[in-house]
Amino acid sequence: MLQRKPRIVVLAGDGIGPEVMNCAMSVLRKLLSRVSDIEIDILQMDAGANSYLQTGTALSEKVIECISNSDGVLLGAMGLPNVRYPDGTEIIPQIELRKIFSLYAGVRPIRLLPGAITPLSDVRVKSLDFTIIRESTEGLFAHMNEGKVENNQVAEDKLEITREASERVFDFAFRLAENRKKLGYPGKVTCIDKANVFKSMAFFRQIFEERAVFFPNIITEVQYVDAAALNLVLRPWDYDVIVTENMFGDILSDLGAGLIGGMGMAPSGDIGDKIAVFQPSHGTAPDIAGMGKANPTAMILSLVLLLEWLSNQGFGEAFNEGAKLVDIAVCKAYQKKTLFPYEVGGNDGTQVILNQILEYL
Ligand code: ATP
Repeated sequence: MLQRKPRIVVLAGDGIGPEVMNCAMSVLRKLLSRVSDIEIDILQMDAGANSYLQTGTALSEKVIECISNSDGVLLGAMGLPNVRYPDGTEIIPQIELRKIFSLYAGVRPIRLLPGAITPLSDVRVKSLDFTIIRESTEGLFAHMNEGKVENNQVAEDKLEITREASERVFDFAFRLAENRKKLGYPGKVTCIDKANVFKSMAFFRQIFEERAVFFPNIITEVQYVDAAALNLVLRPWDYDVIVTENMFGDILSDLGAGLIGGMGMAPSGDIGDKIAVFQPSHGTAPDIAGMGKANPTAMILSLVLLLEWLSNQGFGEAFNEGAKLVDIAVCKAYQKKTLFPYEVGGNDGTQVILNQILEYL
């Protein structure tokens, strides 16, 4: 076990980012005051659209250096629709971080909390608990700043799939399925692609099938993305681990969030070999920023993922126990109180949801 405290960098960001981050910090403070075996050095820093307005840089060298020396990052949300670089592109440092630190596995757990609102009425939805792994360094995002429009007539973007990035993300998905299998999940990985139309996607599927051979205890299946969109609504409980290209993962993980009560319920981790960034799956939600309507659950569950990561990085079982305590508090808040967040048409805002979670913690 490592004999030092983990160092985490906290980037609240823009829009509802600081609102939900304040909630995660309240939860973390309460946890630290209750569990003496958990100690963390927290470094709060500025990055994002507001930072760009104030300092001329959205992601400073200093922030990048501190992240390089950190054991994990907690991020709120970044970017504002009306704050752009001179060339008109949006400020999205969270995507730059994925490239800089090779955060290749976008982990998006889709779990329906007991008592949470879902648009599905089939009783089987109660067992909804799968994870989407979104390849996060290439695919349609590989050349995202290089797209062009010629003569106002033809637009072009490029999708790139490499063997190296595909192998590492498939192996990540297979290892996750192995670990889940030990906990009683089916041990299945579904590769979602469009191999029937695109060469790049056929290559993606070919590499998936090559890597599957090294994980004989894992069930594998392949689906086209259009069929997967249908299945994700009709029978999402059949999935265990999904692995897919960057853009497909971007879209399908929002669909997954819809199944479990909205963006405010969906945590995520962007994981590389050394560095990991944990953040809610949602963006800065400018339409509700400053109104007290943001659901902090996704942010708090991202803190849970960070605590689990720190435990796996060798900082001790106490971090795992801490993660469980927070997770149980979140589950109880929904199960016992029937929380009804704004996002699904209710009136429970940021503070009400936070208070419930703190009470059960
Ligand atoms: P990005 O492109 O950065 O992912 P986006 O513009 O696609 O962002 P979000 O900012 O995620 O979208 O917002 C999508 C919708 O979900 C908005 O209507 C927003 O209000 C809602 N939303 C997002 N996060 C939350 C939250 N935590 N609580 C309540 N509603 C949310």
